[in-house]
Amino acid sequence: MDCDRCGADAVMHAAYSGAHLCDAHFRESVERRVRRRVREDDLLADDATPDDPDRWVIGLSGGKDSVVLATILRETFADDPRVELVALSIHEGIEGYRDESLSACEELTADLGVRHETVSYAEELGVRMDEVAEDDPENMAPCAYCGVFRRDLLETHAEALDADKLLTGHNLDDEAQTALMNFLEGDVARMARQFDASLGPFDRRRETDRFVPRAKPLRDVPEKEVALYCHLRGLPSHTAECPHASEAYRRELRDLLLKLEERHPGVRHSIMAGYEELSGVLAGEYRDGGDEPDLSPCENCGSESARDVCRKCELLDAIEAA
Ligand code: SF4
Ligand code: ZN
Repeated sequence: MDCDRCGADAVMHAAYSGAHLCDAHFRESVERRVRRRVREDDLLADDATPDDPDRWVIGLSGGKDSVVLATILRETFADDPRVELVALSIHEGIEGYRDESLSACEELTADLGVRHETVSYAEELGVRMDEVAEDDPENMAPCAYCGVFRRDLLETHAEALDADKLLTGHNLDDEAQTALMNFLEGDVARMARQFDASLGPFDRRRETDRFVPRAKPLRDVPEKEVALYCHLRGLPSHTAECPHASEAYRRELRDLLLKLEERHPGVRHSIMAGYEELSGVLAGEYRDGGDEPDLSPCENCGSESARDVCRKCELLDAIEAA
């Protein structure tokens, strides 16, 4: 097949849009979607200046998603000193897995000329995921601990780095899986929270001023296209799967969505469009109804939490007691 735009050999076909694109036009289309998202989400603060830039901390794992996001943003703002990027990597303590992906992060940030910071579970929390997975005191999947710890470290360190935004590399498939999971679990409160935390308008997020506002500028790009983009550009990324990967439910939804997408192209986009609209309405209702949870500092660590002791500290206590 030929590229719709220039007639060169197409490297991809997107069934949801009907497009066939060559290498150059495909790359351009991915970059355009990221830039459009940055614009539509109002990511760049109006009052950012070269002397007082907007500081965006990107969670960089070394996997294709965060590598592609960091690259596109760096290139987009190469000549715009109103944005300052900082990459933040988390070392979970997983033998033979995270060390390699961190070398990809170092290579990439050196190439891009972006400041790179790494924090580890071992230093910050006194645990390593390899041991947590083995002991498993709460009898749950390793990812359930890991997700809580990672979120906590990303948030506290984004704050410590004086970030104006915290960006993560979630792609369209990740987001559609999460949306579906929240629907299927009937978790309305979570839909509202997620909207406020990472999809809602930034003005509102700044207003609450509790957390560094989050953004996901890659969320319009399907996973396969992120992988192809990464491959075509030869970006340094790490592809091995974590030995503790255990989110069986998410994997089931991933397969289901891919099957649906094959038969009904565009279903991921329509799930997300509906989800964002619905969760925006819910977020408004929760706020108006005064149903937002009261947050107060965790007795242990001071993180904002809806309980006396935050979930991270609860898990760390259980691990220590095991
Ligand atoms: Fe942590 Fe699970 Fe990701 Fe492994 S797959 S790094 S355990 S969240
Ligand atoms: Zn705590």
